[in-house]
Amino acid sequence: MTTPSVVPVLVGEQWLEPEVTQFTPVHRPGTGEVIARTPHCGVVDVDMAVQDAHAAFPDWANTPAPDRGRVLFRYRELLEAHFEELAQIVCRENGKTMDEARGDVRRGIEVVELACGIGHLSKGEHLPQIANGIDGFSSREPLGVCAGITPFNFPAMVPMWMFPVAIACGNCFVLKPSEKVPLTANRLGELFVEAGLPPGVFNIVHGGREVVDALCRHPRIVAVSFVGSSAVAKHVYELSTQHGKRCQAAGGAKNVILVMPDAVESDVMGAAIVADMAMTGVLSSAFGCAGQRCMAGSLLMGIGDHCDPLRDQLVSAMEAMTVGDPLDSDVDMGAVIDGGSRDRLNKAVAAAASADLVIARDGREGVPNDGFFVGPTLLDGVTPDHDVFTSELFGPVLGMMRLESLQEAIDTLNRIPYGNAATIFTSDGSAARQFTREVSCGMVGVNVGVPAPMALFSFTGWDDSFYGDLHVQGHEGVLFYTRQKTVLNRWL
Ligand code: NAD
Repeated sequence: MTTPSVVPVLVGEQWLEPEVTQFTPVHRPGTGEVIARTPHCGVVDVDMAVQDAHAAFPDWANTPAPDRGRVLFRYRELLEAHFEELAQIVCRENGKTMDEARGDVRRGIEVVELACGIGHLSKGEHLPQIANGIDGFSSREPLGVCAGITPFNFPAMVPMWMFPVAIACGNCFVLKPSEKVPLTANRLGELFVEAGLPPGVFNIVHGGREVVDALCRHPRIVAVSFVGSSAVAKHVYELSTQHGKRCQAAGGAKNVILVMPDAVESDVMGAAIVADMAMTGVLSSAFGCAGQRCMAGSLLMGIGDHCDPLRDQLVSAMEAMTVGDPLDSDVDMGAVIDGGSRDRLNKAVAAAASADLVIARDGREGVPNDGFFVGPTLLDGVTPDHDVFTSELFGPVLGMMRLESLQEAIDTLNRIPYGNAATIFTSDGSAARQFTREVSCGMVGVNVGVPAPMALFSFTGWDDSFYGDLHVQGHEGVLFYTRQKTVLNRWL
């Protein structure tokens, strides 16, 4: 058997194999086979990449914004030309289905499209005669070398939340992708170089904690973007701000989907449509990408007598789902990322059963043996005292809570320490309005199962789901990667 190849790093414009002794195997979760090895770089490799980026910064920052935008536009064209190939890489190394992988790449391209308009997005303000004979203007200036650290679950989209905007703003960038999914990041890097990016503007260093900490400490890094679990987000935020950097660090989540009685069953026409949307919405939110989304609905809330029919309808729809190799187009749900994740999820389900939760649908059974699979699982009877109420399981395991009213549902969900998303399914406008106004989280869905904002809006997690001030994407993304200069002019 041949040893799987080592994933190279990108420093300057060169793809290099670093001299390291530690590697993480990159699996194909759909089969369990090892397809590559991620090198664990160290402080010296990080320094090399940062110094190259630092050397490239003055010229790139001085490149006119429309010219930077043109490179992004060529990049966008290359991403479109290689769309299916990129989706295949995502599917192979992450284990999500091909359709989900296409969505992952598409959401990333939308950020590149946003960044193409950087000239317009980064314009400042101007006020003539702000005082007698004095004109004032402000401009948004690039920062320097920025770093991005990303998780395994969106190998294309999450890195593209960061580097296209940072680079379009005139910064240079060092990306540290998840060691579990380095292949998509490298292909994104190859295409960006092909689009005409000057050497050193974009670099990729692979590894784990050592690389992350070296980036957070490096004196030439000025800003750190992080997406991953909350514990690591907090660590990255604290370490990089202690070292004088600005930081945006997005963490984990526990997202609620509230299905109001009118969305469970009704023969009123509008409500029946919402009922269909609710069933599809819950299934795709909880089990899409095998539940490995920071916007996945992982706690389902039902009201009063409507809980039993909601549960029954859901369980029969879950029974009908096909779980298997995500490259197979007939499959509804792919794999989880690795054997560790599968075992952790199975253990959590066993622990839930010992804590008196009802396993209304057990995903530990009836899944393929090869690869890393957990089937759709429903745990009924969750209360705020159960672990499942607050801990992020990050897999296809949905908890169900039974409440008596909209107000009780809102008050209960506001006890969750995370603050990414909450969704309500209803045909009642006043219920939707109350929910939207009163829930304590940064993204809200009304009859939308996964209310993840696209590139034009920022990704606005709150509480333990986000550490920092300015989020990725949208206007805040541009603000994060630039700083303001204010000039007062007197020529009299
Ligand atoms: P993770 O926190 O384990 O890893 C994220 C990154 O941090 C990786 O690059 C990893 O190498 C690095 N890392 C891991 N442990 C570290 C440590 N101790 N010190 C320094 N660096 C470390 O997350 P994951 O398992 O790859 O991804 C899943 C998590 O990401 C979930 O919690 C999910 O909710 C979250 N996520 C959040 C968002 C969001 O926008 N809020 C989006 C996607 C994923």
